[in-house]
Amino acid sequence: MAQPTVPELLAGVREGRRAAVSRAITLVESGKPAHRALARELLTGLTGEPDGGVHSPAVRVGISGVPGVGKSTFIEALGARLTAAGHRVGVLAVDPSSVRTGGSVLGDKTRMARLSVDPNAYIRPSPSAGTLGGVARATVQAMAVLEAGGYDVVLVETVGVGQSEVTVAGMVDTFLFLTLARTGDQLQGIKKGILEIADVIAVNKADGDREQEARVAARDLAGALRLVRGKDEWAPPVVTCSGLTDVGVEDLWERVQAHRDHLGAEGLAAKRSRQQLDFTWALVRDELDQRLRHAPGVRAIREEVRAQVLAGDLPATVAADRILAAYDGR
Ligand code: GDP
Repeated sequence: MAQPTVPELLAGVREGRRAAVSRAITLVESGKPAHRALARELLTGLTGEPDGGVHSPAVRVGISGVPGVGKSTFIEALGARLTAAGHRVGVLAVDPSSVRTGGSVLGDKTRMARLSVDPNAYIRPSPSAGTLGGVARATVQAMAVLEAGGYDVVLVETVGVGQSEVTVAGMVDTFLFLTLARTGDQLQGIKKGILEIADVIAVNKADGDREQEARVAARDLAGALRLVRGKDEWAPPVVTCSGLTDVGVEDLWERVQAHRDHLGAEGLAAKRSRQQLDFTWALVRDELDQRLRHAPGVRAIREEVRAQVLAGDLPATVAADRILAAYDGR
């Protein structure tokens, strides 16, 4: 089949046709300059207004946790419930490991066996766009495609490594953190920053022998959270759930709704506008970083500077000045 034109893609996405949605996302994921222009045309056509979807009725939820915490199993259970309730669910992934290795922790989407054959669900593995910024750019645009295609719930999954959680928190309305009960040291196991960005926390795998342990962990976590978060802010609820036995999943979704209610329509729009602004600068920084890396002047001196710094012949401050001067063409 010939490559569809942008108007054809637009029409297909608006009708919610899966093949068109896939192609549109492939287009927005592409880093090729020629594709970028087409992607921009597509996105402008989809949203109709350049507001980055600030007023989109879609529910955007980030879901994070270390590999093995049960994210896919949980998303499978939640997704099935949501589509049964009449929603159309899009699942995107932000996986920084796909940036470095080409392979990815979240890549194996066959794990969501039921959801992947559900006609009202669309699952997309993480783009491998070279940098976390590139992945974020692609994901935000894929989200716009899904929302235009009638997906009213978008779940963005990410692994608990590095900067990816903060990145995902910056593109969703509600950030859900899944963790496990680990007697005694659960707080050490959780990066402090997470407690500051999580809107809802769930101790997962609360089933069988682990149920009691999970409850205790949830109570401890709730206590710790009170110390981290200010009094006037939303107090993130800490609940227990089991994606495997589908217990507590409904309750968790109600907590997500409660968080949205807490924000209110205006609060949500304001949050999304702020995210747009932050994202603007993130995109600029990412682009500048790329330009710096590829600037001929920088490339010309890079190895020499590296060798001198490693040999102890050049202090970092001087080395940095030299690189910046090379970038500026001085
Ligand atoms: P992910 O890496 O975070 O996506 O985790 P998975 O969903 O792939 O789950 C990792 C392992 O934990 C698998 O063996 C699952 O069967 C198991 N698992 C996932 N959710 C639960 C749960 O709620 N309870 C129990 N007992 N095991 C679970």
